Amino acid sequence: MDTSTTFNAIGVLDFDKWLEPKKFSYNPASMGPLSIEISIDACGICGSDIHAAAGDWGRAYTPLAVGHEIIGRIVSLGDEVDKSKFHLGDRVGVGPVCDCCHECNRCKDHKEVNCKKGVLTYLGVDPKTGVKTQGGYADRIRVDSRWVFKIPDALESKHAAPLLCGGITGFKPLLTAKVGKGTKVGIVGIGGIGHMTMLFAKALGAEVTAISRSNRKKDDAFELGASDYIATAEEGYELKNADSLDVLVVTTSSFSGSNLDKMLTLLKPAGRMIFITAPPMDEKLTVTPMTMLMNDYVISGSASGSPHEIEYMLEFAAKHDIKPWVETIDISEPNVAKSWQRMLDGDVKYRFVLTGYDKCF
Ligand SMILES: [Zn+2]
Ligand SMILES: [Zn+2]
Repeated sequence: MDTSTTFNAIGVLDFDKWLEPKKFSYNPASMGPLSIEISIDACGICGSDIHAAAGDWGRAYTPLAVGHEIIGRIVSLGDEVDKSKFHLGDRVGVGPVCDCCHECNRCKDHKEVNCKKGVLTYLGVDPKTGVKTQGGYADRIRVDSRWVFKIPDALESKHAAPLLCGGITGFKPLLTAKVGKGTKVGIVGIGGIGHMTMLFAKALGAEVTAISRSNRKKDDAFELGASDYIATAEEGYELKNADSLDVLVVTTSSFSGSNLDKMLTLLKPAGRMIFITAPPMDEKLTVTPMTMLMNDYVISGSASGSPHEIEYMLEFAAKHDIKPWVETIDISEPNVAKSWQRMLDGDVKYRFVLTGYDKCF
């Protein structure tokens, strides 16, 4: 811990009052040889922020600043940081993972995001220092440079921020499933991650079907690039649209009461269903093995992305002009509370991005 340095943040001081976030200060981990310190300019509000702040994954520690869709400028570089890649003042981003062990087979295999010793940007503990990590609702952050990403000039900060978690989380499963021109991709849930997944799928040349409970988001879905729309509240939707999709990406964060067998009917044989969100730990999926067998179905999961995938995603987003739909809001105690409440109410199209950091800290 660097007790001579203080960072300022807004976060949860008491899990019983998590919807009343407050300002606090903390001492960050000391600068290591590979550390980068970033002065933060913007941070997207991910659904995970809400789960973490509400204690859905356990009440880890307070104070807790969340936020892992971070954009800022480099203000300090450790001695061993790759100086051909990073310079003071560079605009960079940080996502949900801020370090890994760099030594295990997963890391060596470039599956760093799956490292069992990976450190989360918040709700994590820096193994080198023992300091609990704090996220991007703060004036600064220090992270390992191997998890810091240069932001292409073509991307505005407010559009780049949500890509660091929501964007890569939606993009990676499309790459894994080899989505390309003409692939029929169904995207379940039109929210923060879902709408970004639609933008990426469309840019990859896929024919996108948006899948939502009601018809409420139909116009938005077509504007986002969907060519078809399925409302699962409609009786018999699965029979009407059976065998129509190659890939189903599930971006909703609650599965209570949903019937997987029914939704799998939408897939062609050997189709793939991929889960990419992080619901509360007590959520369980139910599926009939016979359904899997008779149709050669694959059900899989996908965690955000490893460094090389995040770098590729940012390049791809810049090249294809991927612009998440965002609502910017100045960071402050009341505005964080307001945006969290509006997210709980499903009242955002489709991502809040906190800005105005210089006015708050
Ligand atoms: Zn996230
Ligand atoms: Zn590792």
